[in-house]
Amino acid sequence: MAFFPDISLRRAIVLLVVVVSILTAGTGITVKLTTEHLVNDDARISARDWAQFLAVNLTDLKQIAAGELPNASSLAFLEATRKAGQVFRTVIFNREGYSQLVADHEGIKSVDVSDFSAEAARSVASGSTVIDISEGEAADLPAYFARAYVPVFVDGEPAASVAVFVNETEQRANFRNTFLVAALILCSITALAFGMPAIAWYRRTKEKQQVDRRVRFLANHDSLTGLANRVRLTERLDGALSALPSSGGQIAVHFIDIDHFKEVNDLLGHDGGDFLLSTLGQRLGALTRIEDMVGRLGGDEFVVVQTGVSGKEQAEVFAQRIASAMGEPMYFKEQKIKIDVTIGVALAPADGMTSERLLKSADLALYKGKEAGRNRITIYAHEMDDLQQARRELEKAINDAIANDRFVVHYQPIFEIGRHRLIGFEALLRLSAQDGTLIPPATFIPVAEDMHVIDKLGAWVLRSACRTAATWPKNLTVAVNLSPLQFQAGTLTEVVAAALKESGLEAHRLELEIIETVMLQNNERTVAQLRDLKALGVAIVMDDFGTGYSSLSYLWKFPFDKIKIDRSFVQSFEKAGDDAATVVKSIIALGRELRMQVTVEGVETLKQADFLHESGGDQVQGFYFGRPLPASEINASILADFPKTLPVTAPLDRTNVTPVRS
Ligand code: C2E
Ligand code: CA
Ligand code: CA
Repeated sequence: MAFFPDISLRRAIVLLVVVVSILTAGTGITVKLTTEHLVNDDARISARDWAQFLAVNLTDLKQIAAGELPNASSLAFLEATRKAGQVFRTVIFNREGYSQLVADHEGIKSVDVSDFSAEAARSVASGSTVIDISEGEAADLPAYFARAYVPVFVDGEPAASVAVFVNETEQRANFRNTFLVAALILCSITALAFGMPAIAWYRRTKEKQQVDRRVRFLANHDSLTGLANRVRLTERLDGALSALPSSGGQIAVHFIDIDHFKEVNDLLGHDGGDFLLSTLGQRLGALTRIEDMVGRLGGDEFVVVQTGVSGKEQAEVFAQRIASAMGEPMYFKEQKIKIDVTIGVALAPADGMTSERLLKSADLALYKGKEAGRNRITIYAHEMDDLQQARRELEKAINDAIANDRFVVHYQPIFEIGRHRLIGFEALLRLSAQDGTLIPPATFIPVAEDMHVIDKLGAWVLRSACRTAATWPKNLTVAVNLSPLQFQAGTLTEVVAAALKESGLEAHRLELEIIETVMLQNNERTVAQLRDLKALGVAIVMDDFGTGYSSLSYLWKFPFDKIKIDRSFVQSFEKAGDDAATVVKSIIALGRELRMQVTVEGVETLKQADFLHESGGDQVQGFYFGRPLPASEINASILADFPKTLPVTAPLDRTNVTPVRS
């Protein structure tokens, strides 16, 4: 309804009332004026007609005006007029304006004491009819009547004035009623004409308001849980913070994150995930007081704002309650779900006085808790800011390095232990920082994964390593590490094939090292991708073997070409002694059984090298044999020297092994 402007309901109602009032008042006034006008006209006309009628028909008027009684015919006339009803009085005045004869309900009689009438005198003097209309004031007068004074001339001489009083009360009532009905009908029609669209408009406004309210609710709330969303929560939190100095207490912000939500979500499907989130939302709602706030910031992140807190201890106790409430099992389609949460807590005023800063502090504490292994409560500490700062710098360094090609690949030699010869290198990525230092991959790869740039980076390492290896003698291989995330896009096989094609490296010279997390995302797609890769002719290596919790089962799931025993085993020889050695020996034996080669990495000492030689491991890698080096150094001198510098007789000993320059 475009012609109704978008105004507020209150203003609309006021407008409507004004319009209806004006209409009613207007109609009322119109009815009154019109009725009066018409009644007056009618009164005038009938009074004049009656008076003229009498003036013409009373033949002895001149005599009557002179004080004589009317003759018989005039009497009959007057009598008839008196009984006609509408004329309730007739008075005959002399030409000076004094009454001489009166005919009314009491009869016809000549007056003893004359009354003077100015109107009668005026009618005679002016020679024209004088009419006036009165509302009856006296008891013997009708409520509304008209008087007409008609001058009578006999032989051109003024003789008398005949006054006729006509009762117009009934006539007026008739007019009034007729008009009132007409006006009422008119009013109703007008009201309908206005009212119908007004009602329709009102209903639309109502609907619009409801929609507006819903939109506003949605804008402020999370549609799944009905909890406040980020906008609403920060608004309310800011409100509470600004009231804080006067109220004295503290405010605790609990940042809650569901551990491994993605896995639960994958397992239960979308509906199950939604069910989980809304159930947790309800639990949080039930746990908090009216003055507290609960919000969902998106995904699996909830925030509880606890007001009137005395300090850290009280906040921590509450966080514990949140964690245990969230950890209560629930059932979705008869399936039991149980989750853990990680909670970061920050307190105002100490950890921030704006919602932004406080949420950030709580988020930092949460992040710290996740890093420390999840399922815990972490209270914010100021050092966490430095952590955040460092992280931001690292992200910047990664972006810069991608833009300016500042990543470098180092290569660490791998030796075949039995035949004492170099068989290849492992490509290890480094980030060269602005100041020239090299940042180790353990620091930046998890960040690159979080930043979703690992696919790009991994593809670059593959191309780079293949290109370098293609310049080496044909018996040397290159091993490239893959992030589990590189399996997610499903394009890894193409990426690898392209790197091989571009560099001209034969596929069998490329080894791909994966860690068991890849197998953990053990869906058919991952295994299918591994098979496709293997079909290209590249070798697949299970890296960091022994560090996971169910490593063995993965060995049945895929025919790996090689197992790399994690360096922690060799390095705990000194501490754990025989046990670690036994494990290493067992894995080597297992590899034999499964026809998988076994590489031992992290060999730092001659003693360790000796042990591995004795244990029958296939390959070794470690600082003792050579540190990772840039391709240029590998290419220039060392490559040529490797075959000669390797020990030729077992056991290996320090004198005939020249470690690669470190
Ligand atoms: P990793 O695959 O286990 O690589 C071997 C790591 O052990 C390398 O660390 C290497 O420098 C170190 N190392 C070699 N010999 C010894 C030794 O005798 N003693 C000790 N203590 N350490 C030794 P680096 O280069 O810092 O790499 C760390 C991890 O970063 C790698 O562990 C690998 O998981 C990851 N990484 C390296 N490059 C890449 C890459 O291009 N892509 C991906 N996704 N991950 C990479
Ligand atoms: Ca590796
Ligand atoms: Ca490793």
